Amino acid sequence: MAYCVQCGGKMEERIPDGDERSRLVCPDCGHITYENPKLVVGTLPVVAGKVLLLRRAIEPRYGTWSYPGGFLEMGETIEEGASRESREELGIEVGKLRLHGIYDRPSVGIVTIIYLAEIVRGEPAPSSEALEARYFGPEEIPWNELAFPTTARALVDWVSSTR
Ligand SMILES: [Zn+2]
Repeated sequence: MAYCVQCGGKMEERIPDGDERSRLVCPDCGHITYENPKLVVGTLPVVAGKVLLLRRAIEPRYGTWSYPGGFLEMGETIEEGASRESREELGIEVGKLRLHGIYDRPSVGIVTIIYLAEIVRGEPAPSSEALEARYFGPEEIPWNELAFPTTARALVDWVSSTR
């Protein structure tokens, strides 16, 4: 049971007047809860023609490979969020961000924005979120061990861009 954040009433699921989708609506005060996709931001740090990936130390998809990335926080610019995730997960300071691509997963409500980046400080190191970090050339991508469809799509585009 969901409760109204405005008045504490019990929310009901129905299609509001003039809407086309079912929402949680408060019958007492009329408050409507809108669910929208969340933004994930990340980087593809590239050094000497190889991309830096990490092996996830957290669920979901523990042990699979991905780029450093995570949910954008309130008050952050996209580039700040992408840089923060790279710092938190691998201990590297990235710079010279260039938009690489935007990838959606409508079934789970996620939009991922990925930047190409250079490492300006620090050596990639494991963290509470990364079991290991490793550089992969275009021919070395572990396609069968990637974390998410978005990871694969971003790396397909990266490999194409190197040809
Ligand atoms: Zn209410």
